[in-house]
Amino acid sequence: MPAVGPASLSPAALLRRYRASLRAKLVSIVIAPLLVALLALLLIMGLWGDRAFQALLAYKVNSDLLVAHEYFEHMVRGVEDRVLQEARSHALVAGLGRGNAMPAILADARRTHGLDFLQLLDPQGRLLAAAPAGAGADPAAWRIVSSAAAGRAAAATDAWSAAQLAAVSAELARRAQVALRPTANAVPTDKTLETRGMVVHAAAPVFDEAGTLVAVLHGGTLLNNNLGFIDTINALVYQPESLPRGSQGTATLFLDDTRIATNVRLFHGERALGTRVSRQVRDKVLLRGEKWLDLAFVVNDWYMSAYEPITDSRGQRIGMLYVGYLAKPISQAKDLALGVLVGLFLLLGVAGALFSLLWARRVFAPMARMVGTMRALEAGNTGARVGPVGSEDELGQLAGQFDQLLSDLQQRNAQLKDWADSLDRKVAERTRELEESNADLRAARQQLITSEKLAVAGQLTAGVAHEVNNPIAVIQGNLDVAREILGPAAEPVRHELRLIDEQVRRIQQLTSRLLQFVRPEAYAGNMERLDVGEVAAGCVDLVQHMLKGASIRVELDCLATRQVRISRSELQQVVVNLLTNAIHAMPEGGTLTLGTRDWDGQGVTLHVRDTGHGIREEDLPNLFNPFFTTKKQMGTGLGLSISYALVERYGGRITVESAVGQGAEFIVWLREDGAAPAQAEAGGGVP
Ligand code: ADP
Repeated sequence: MPAVGPASLSPAALLRRYRASLRAKLVSIVIAPLLVALLALLLIMGLWGDRAFQALLAYKVNSDLLVAHEYFEHMVRGVEDRVLQEARSHALVAGLGRGNAMPAILADARRTHGLDFLQLLDPQGRLLAAAPAGAGADPAAWRIVSSAAAGRAAAATDAWSAAQLAAVSAELARRAQVALRPTANAVPTDKTLETRGMVVHAAAPVFDEAGTLVAVLHGGTLLNNNLGFIDTINALVYQPESLPRGSQGTATLFLDDTRIATNVRLFHGERALGTRVSRQVRDKVLLRGEKWLDLAFVVNDWYMSAYEPITDSRGQRIGMLYVGYLAKPISQAKDLALGVLVGLFLLLGVAGALFSLLWARRVFAPMARMVGTMRALEAGNTGARVGPVGSEDELGQLAGQFDQLLSDLQQRNAQLKDWADSLDRKVAERTRELEESNADLRAARQQLITSEKLAVAGQLTAGVAHEVNNPIAVIQGNLDVAREILGPAAEPVRHELRLIDEQVRRIQQLTSRLLQFVRPEAYAGNMERLDVGEVAAGCVDLVQHMLKGASIRVELDCLATRQVRISRSELQQVVVNLLTNAIHAMPEGGTLTLGTRDWDGQGVTLHVRDTGHGIREEDLPNLFNPFFTTKKQMGTGLGLSISYALVERYGGRITVESAVGQGAEFIVWLREDGAAPAQAEAGGGVP
């Protein structure tokens, strides 16, 4: 694993590492959909959950309002029941006959029933008696009174004017007063004091013993500042433990848009009487007559609120009933739950990703080992292998097969190398063979050229020798005649005559040698089986005169066991020629070695080796050409060419090895069965 420094944590480096890691990619393939699903889930929960939560809160506040509504209705019915009960009471009916007793009976009944007032009216609606004692303000105007006068008890909630209240009692009018407080968001108003009162009242017919309707009983109670009533509603709706901790339930009764009975508190703990509802709520509930089930800013905080209109006996909306609870603690609890959920999701997501990465590392371990092995192979470690990976899944199997493949490959490589080596060896062998056969070819070609040259030169010289022989014979004859005629008189020119003799003899020798070269058969002796070494050793005596004076050591090294068929005189001529050349090559002295060897099954080789000045490389190809000589006047250049021609006629040949300053070795190859010399041509028969 490469070391991870701080630099490798840059986004580009991380991206590079990600791109190079199959494991990371596969893990992201698995995790990416989960993450997307998780995010979508959270989003849905955030949006839809929030709505559902709001709806839930609205349901709850709606049911709270229902409870409050029931209680309100119950209270109205209660007033009706009490008035009805009193209208039917014996005391009241009995008291009808006794006009003076009535105020006391009503006062007593008002106290007993906990009503704010009780009025006895005649069937036409005129006031007969009242408690508290007051003039009454045309009670017949109330629908419930007309209904009772018609024989049917009824109850209603009505808004009473200050005058109507005052007509009952000044105390009632005073109790109804609520000072308005300036409220943000409410519909602006010039009013500073609410003097009207919301009254729950009921009317019931009073019958005499004969069953005749003789009067109407009208009684009620004022709700303005009626805190006991509102606290009861609140206690009923928001019983202990019905709201989360920190939240708080509220209930309010509105006359028009003004709080006339409430347990909503102001900042300093005082009840928020006289504050007013927001324009939004007022418009919806009071003007349009709809229910409000939503968050609303109540006095100083957001409440989950429910408002419903209260209608009077004529069906007019005169106020509202409200319940609600502080929303913040609930939404805080919800946010907390959501936060915990998100946190948990994230925690699980991260833990899951880490777990997946570790797991994937285990799963991909064989692959990582394979990559490492390949790097090792690249670095030249041909023996690197993945080895046992402890996994039997596809990757484990792959690692095993990879190893197998590497072993096979290594084996094949070794085989290939062996093949290549043996191929190299064979190529070298063939090349050597080719070079050898090339050398043989060159030698054969050289021999062919030499033979051709000898043939041409032979024909030329044959003609010349003949032409020269005749004049020489004439010169020699005439010279002999002249010597005879002159007798002693020839004495003064005796020296000159001897010189002429010598030169003539020399010319005769030359021509006879030339003719011998051209027609050797004429000079050849009989063929016989000869020991070449013996003949060669005998030849040393023939050149003894040349050895005198020169400090040349002659060594014999004749080891050949075979004999060859050849003419003795011709063999002697060849050996003497070679010895003469060797001696000439060592004017300062040296060693002359004469030897023979068996020529593997074919015949005998004769070796004439000297330690003389050697032969220049450029002269080697011309050595056997007739008339090639480096000895100027001293040589004829015919010795080697004639020797070659002689040997060749027996199916043999002559080769030479030499270098300047290294001496020279001439080898004469003689066949055992010495093929009979060819008769017609000078050349031919090259082995
Ligand atoms: P000649 O001896 O008359 O020159 P040959 O045909 O015998 O004619 O020899 C030809 C030439 O070959 C000689 O002139 C000489 O240069 C060379 N030669 C022959 N034998 C030897 C030798 N043993 N060492 C050096 N040169 C040699």
